Order: sequence, then structure tokens, then C-alpha cells
Amino acid sequence: MGLLALGTPLAWSDAAKHADYVREHGIEQLLHIWERLRDRTGDRLLWGDEVEYLVISYDDEGKNARLSLRQTEILEDLQADAQERRDKGGEASGAGAAGGGGGGGGGSEACIPVFHPEYGRYMLESTPGAPYGASLSDLLLVEGNMRFRRQLAKSRMKPHEVPLTLTTFPRLGAEGVFTDPYFPPGGGVARSLFLPDEIINQHVRFPTLTANIRRRRGSKVAINMPVFVDDETPRPFVDPTVPRDRDDWPEDKNAREGAALDDHIYMDAMGFGMGCCCLQITFQACSVGEARRMYDAFVPVGPIMLALSAAAPIFRGWLADVDCRWDVIAGSVDDRTEEERGLKPLQHDRFKIPKSRYDSVDCYIADSPSNRPEYNDNDMPVDPKIRDRLVERGMDPLLATHFAHLFIRDPIVIFEETMCQDDEKSSDHFENIQSTNWQTVRFKPPPPGSPIGWRVEFRSMEVQLTDYENAAFSVFVVLLTRAIMTLGLNFYLPISKVDENMHRAHQRDAIHTQRFFFRKNLFDPKPGRPCDPPFDDAPAPSSPAHDSASSANAHAPADGQATTSNGVLHAPQGVAPPLPLARERKESGAASSSNGSVPPSPRTCCSSHAPSRATSPDPSRRGTSTRAPEEEAPEPAFGPVEDEYDEFTLNEVVNGSEARGFPGLIGVVRLYLDGLEKEGKVSDEVKRGIERSLELVRRRADGSLVTLATYIRRFVRAHPLYKHDSHVSQEINYDLVRALDAIERGERAAPELLPEGWRDEYAKGGGFERACGEVLGETLAKGGAKGGDH
Ligand code: ADP
Ligand code: MG
Ligand code: MG
Ligand code: MG
Ligand code: MG
Ligand code: MG
Repeated sequence: MGLLALGTPLAWSDAAKHADYVREHGIEQLLHIWERLRDRTGDRLLWGDEVEYLVISYDDEGKNARLSLRQTEILEDLQADAQERRDKGGEASGAGAAGGGGGGGGGSEACIPVFHPEYGRYMLESTPGAPYGASLSDLLLVEGNMRFRRQLAKSRMKPHEVPLTLTTFPRLGAEGVFTDPYFPPGGGVARSLFLPDEIINQHVRFPTLTANIRRRRGSKVAINMPVFVDDETPRPFVDPTVPRDRDDWPEDKNAREGAALDDHIYMDAMGFGMGCCCLQITFQACSVGEARRMYDAFVPVGPIMLALSAAAPIFRGWLADVDCRWDVIAGSVDDRTEEERGLKPLQHDRFKIPKSRYDSVDCYIADSPSNRPEYNDNDMPVDPKIRDRLVERGMDPLLATHFAHLFIRDPIVIFEETMCQDDEKSSDHFENIQSTNWQTVRFKPPPPGSPIGWRVEFRSMEVQLTDYENAAFSVFVVLLTRAIMTLGLNFYLPISKVDENMHRAHQRDAIHTQRFFFRKNLFDPKPGRPCDPPFDDAPAPSSPAHDSASSANAHAPADGQATTSNGVLHAPQGVAPPLPLARERKESGAASSSNGSVPPSPRTCCSSHAPSRATSPDPSRRGTSTRAPEEEAPEPAFGPVEDEYDEFTLNEVVNGSEARGFPGLIGVVRLYLDGLEKEGKVSDEVKRGIERSLELVRRRADGSLVTLATYIRRFVRAHPLYKHDSHVSQEINYDLVRALDAIERGERAAPELLPEGWRDEYAKGGGFERACGEVLGETLAKGGAKGGDH
């Protein structure tokens, strides 16, 4: 959730006055990054996942499953533990790292996962201790690493608590008791009819974010998800659990004055959305150009993976007619005013804005001829002054437009103490706006002065119940990026169609009921170079595979290090020959800031506006690239955009269709893997591991396995206490959560949800246990965790 700076947050009325200042300096900070790092190349593939958990607290006597609000204690415990281990690792410095394995696996640092706070005071987030690298064998570490993180979290919980990777808590905001300890709904921050403010992470950033969104919008957020109409659901459905007569806050009248729609499940607070759990994956690209191509390719994949991972069929104690969380989060942070939402003519505000700041991507950004202007067909407000300023300073119009769109938003939380920043060294003002634009894909510029490169984050997926599934989806997305970049695939499709796909992805049982727009021919006639430099493969001395010797500082390239003999997630030879060493890391933030090659400039702190230094931009610096060969090539002939795409079932998109000559996403992954295999780079163990992951994706798409959303819906409807009135009572919820928990532990079979043998690797102890077994054993013993599966 971005930065957790400590300080004094400004109330909305004050923050609003500083919005222009933050935007101004945010853009200045972005420009410093751009000017310094636009030509940076040679970063290796690094990637990592983020998994979010609900902390469940059982009340077995009362047959209730609740949300435990012990986030702070659990995190403090986990962090103290990690620190201790790091200190210990520091003493034994240089140890760790014996053979094989990327950051997520080998090496002491890598064996210490990172736990982060999240919005809900009942949530945790975990990431691997260090990112994974470009080695195929790293894929074998993912599941074990996730499982370890779960065990670690569990070891710091009480016997009646459990970390559950469930996208939504079915009875969040329902009548009765859903938190431990209990708090009545309400409070001055969210003013919710359903949620107590006590469910919000108590770090001042989160209540401020919540209150300022409400204040900026001028009312509480209003989320209405269609109710699932079952045999006995009254029509119209007028939710009897909405307290329409409460009058504690002025906003209490919202519900009775129309905010709560009939036939819908009404939700009125940020917690309903930001309290959801998801699965995200971040990739480091080798250059800004590759990051932009990766970003674009991910955009149409977003809704597909949302539909495949659907896991959210219940909200606030009611079965919904949708299977996904996304729209709920979008609504939960929708800070647009009535004017911005188009309900009133523009008078005080600058733009009419079609989407919430949490929504699907609005424009493609790659500077490639394949990215036809016609694809960016959304009505998308941009701040023209910001765009002009970026272009004047040498950013190409496409990327400038992207940022000028993100920067139509106001900063929501401003800390008084961090207003003054050195725009050369900080990116806080930039990140303030950037990281509160929550889109399906995020383009992440390198933080100044760090060794981190240009990154792309894939954000649409719902978290899955088991580590097997979360690893499988992660591995699939990783392989898909490799296929896209290596084979030069083209996924472009008008962005309005991607938005339509987002809508369809939400629909109940989308796998059987929906068709999705997708590009017919995925093989780009003019893909350009796959990477600059290309995915460096094992034989080249210029290609430090991500081996464990560098995992303690996995961000940094391991210059001159020996390569691993493992298969590497790079281009098969002949597709993209390695470039010479000299092209590696032409420039990096770390280098330029440490060797002083960038002259220090005076701090612009607290001057009303940063002076523009853009009087005479060097024309040779214009555009994103002075070297991309595709720019010199003649324009390829394109037909009408409408001929490029068609509608496919999810099964076809994923598994392909021979009849329609469409390879499917798994098909292109296999094609990519075939290339590696021909070169003997895929060991049998790796092959088995990848097949385990692909099986889940393939079978979720072909319907031979159901999504968790379908599983949950069926469970509720088959429950003896269910009255077929859409209502999910406390006791049904208790049985449901217990059942899901038991499935995760392997104590309850769910053959309709998970493939046979999905736990086999657990029993064997996969690559991660080999790499981090000692840490694992010690940590669990110390935490006093019981044996078994947690
Ligand atoms: P955020 O919450 O801002 O999205 P997190 O720090 O929670 O980001 O997670 C980022 C993920 O990216 C982690 O899995 C981490 O391992 C991974 N990661 C860290 N550094 C890099 C890098 N240089 N390139 C790619 N992934 C990285
Ligand atoms: Mg998170
Ligand atoms: Mg973060
Ligand atoms: Mg995170
Ligand atoms: Mg989140
Ligand atoms: Mg993230």
C-alpha cells in the first residue's frame, strides 16, 4: 500500500490546498527519474509475488468465524523474528547461498520472508525475502516459499487463529459479530453503517485515507453489487440488514435517500474493498522499453486472470450475482466528486472522470508500431499542462499521456513533515499519486538512488485458497511474460474491449456464461526486438543468471558471476542472441548517484513551484529511444482494428482452439517452453513442476475444476441451514470457513476445486525446503508451532 511514512497527516481541507504542489513536485521527481534512467538497460529479470491473508479467529462454541484484529501484534512478532534472523545472518556474513536457487529461495536473506501491513486490521501481506530470478528452477521454489510464509504467519497466531487466503470475508459488515474483539459499527472516520472504524489499520495513513476519500467525494462511497436471486429471495430485494433509521452522522441518511439500491448488496466504506485480499506479481524488465511492452501485453490479460481466479461470491452476508471483488474495491476508494462523476456540470472541478482511481488501465504505453493509436479508444482525461511539461522535458507523448492521466488525481494523504523533499533524491510526491492509482497493471519507475530497475506489476488476480494455487497462477503469469517477450507476441485489443472484458469477468460463472474479446493473431508481424539486451542466456559471460550467491542483495546484478547450469527463463537461442557485455547496465540510479556523475542541484524544497529547466530540450533526447530499430522500419500495413479481435470463451482464450487456429495462452507458453526444451534447458523436475501449475490453469479454464467462487456458492446453497434466500448466516459462514480451512490443510477433499495430488509436493518437500530447510525448522520450532500442515 505504498509508503508508511510517519507524521502528521493533513485533513482534506488542508491537503487539497497542497494538491498542486504535490503534483508539481511529483512530476519533477518523475522527470529526474526519467532523465537519469530512461536509457538504463541490462537489468535482469527479477520477479516476486505478494500474497494477502485474512486472520480468522474461531469461536467454536458460538459457531462463529470472525476477523481477528491482531494485525499489529502479529506483525511486530514476525518482524522482530525476521530482524533477529537477519542479525544472525549478518554475523555469519557471506554464508548462505550454496548452489542453485534464486532470491526467493537460496541464501539467508531470501529465507526471511517479508510481512507487510495492509488496510484491514485483520490482514497481512507477505512477499518472498528477495525476488526470484531468471532461472527456471526458481519456479520450483515458489510454492514452498508461499507455504513457508503461511506457516510462519500461523506460528505467530493463537491456537484459535488461522491465516486464510480468502479474497473476501463473507460476513464483513454483516449483522452480528464479525470481529474479534467485537466493536459496534460506526465511528467518525468511515461513518459506515456496517463497519467499525476499528477494522482499519491503526497507522494514521489508513484512517486518513479513508476519511479524506469520503471528504473529497462529498459523501460516503456507495458500492452496490447485484444480489444473487435464489428461489426464496424476496423481490424486489430490500436488504433488511441496512439500518435505514440511524442518525449518528449526516451521511447516515445516504442509505435511505437512494445510495442503497434495491436488488443489490449495499456497502458504504473503504474497508469493503481495501479489506479484500489479492495476489499480485511484480516483474523487473531489462529496460524501460521492455517494461512498456510487458505492461501493454498484461492489460488484456488482466480480466482473463480475474475471471480464472474468481473467488468472491459473497458480500456482507449475502450471495452476490458476481464472482469477483474488483468492482467492490473500485467503488470503495472512489473519491470523485459529483461533478467528476458527471452528475453535475463542471464548475469547481477540472475534469469529468469516467473511472475510480482504482480501476482498469486506461491506455497502452509501448512505443512500438504494434501499439496502434486506435487501441487507446477510452475517453480518458489528462492534465494537458502536465503532459506538455513531460514532453518538453523529453518524454514521448505516449508515456507522458499515461502519467498526465494518473496525475489528474489529487493526493489523498499528505504528511506535513514530508512536504519538503529533494526532488532529485526522493520520489515520495510522485509515489503519493502513482501508488494511489490502483489499476489492473502498474508501471513502476525505478526508485531514485536504488539498484531497482523498471518494473511492471500485474494486479488483477484474486488470492487463492491454497499455496498450490497461488503458486500455480504466479508461475503461469511468469511463463506467460517470458513467452510474450521472447516470442514477440502481440495481445493488443482496443482498451474499451478490455474494459468490457473486466465487466464480463465479474459475472457469475463467467467461465461458462461469458465470451471475452481477444486478439485473433497473437504473433506480431513486427514485434521489434524482444529485449534490449535480450534475455541473456546461460552461455554468455555477460549474463549473470540469478544465482544464489547474490541473493542477499538480489536487486543488484551479479556482475561477472558464473552462471548457473539451470534452465534460464530466457529466449531460446536463435530467437534473441545475447548482446555484448558493454551493453549491460549503461546507467543506473545507484551508479549515477554514488559516483557523482549527476551534479547535485539546489533543493527546490518548499519553493512554490519548481523552476522549469526545460527551456531548450535536446532534440536528440526526445522520444523514448534513439536506437530502437522498429522506429526506422517502414510502417507495417494494418487492416481495420475490428478485424483483429474476436470473442472467445475463457477456455478458448486459455487453452486455445484448433478449429479457430488460436493457440491460447497456455499454447504460447508451451511454444516458449518447447524452444527451451530443444536446447536441453528444462530438467525433468522443472517440467513436472511447471505441469503441476499449468494443470490448474488449464482445468479452471476448461471447467473441469471450478473456481473458488463457484465452490463457495455451491457450498452455501447446499448447506442444510441455507433458506435459499441469498442470506449467508453466521453459522453457515462458520461451517464454510472451517471447510475452506480444512481444504487448505489437506483435511478435506475438494476434487471439484483442486486436481488430484495437489498436495504431493507438500509431503515431499520441494525446492524451497531444500534451500531454506534449516531456517524453516528453526523458526517453526521457536514459534512453538505444532507439526502438521501449518
Ligand atoms: P507493492 O506493495 O508496492 O506492490 P511489495 O514491496 O509489497 O510492493 O512487493 C513487490 C514484489 O516485487 C515482491 O514480491 C518483491 O519480491 C518483488 N521485487 C522486489 N524487487 C524487485 C525487483 N527489482 N524486480 C522485480 N520484483 C521485485
Ligand atoms: Mg497488498
Ligand atoms: Mg508496498
Ligand atoms: Mg505489497
Ligand atoms: Mg491491497
Ligand atoms: Mg503490490
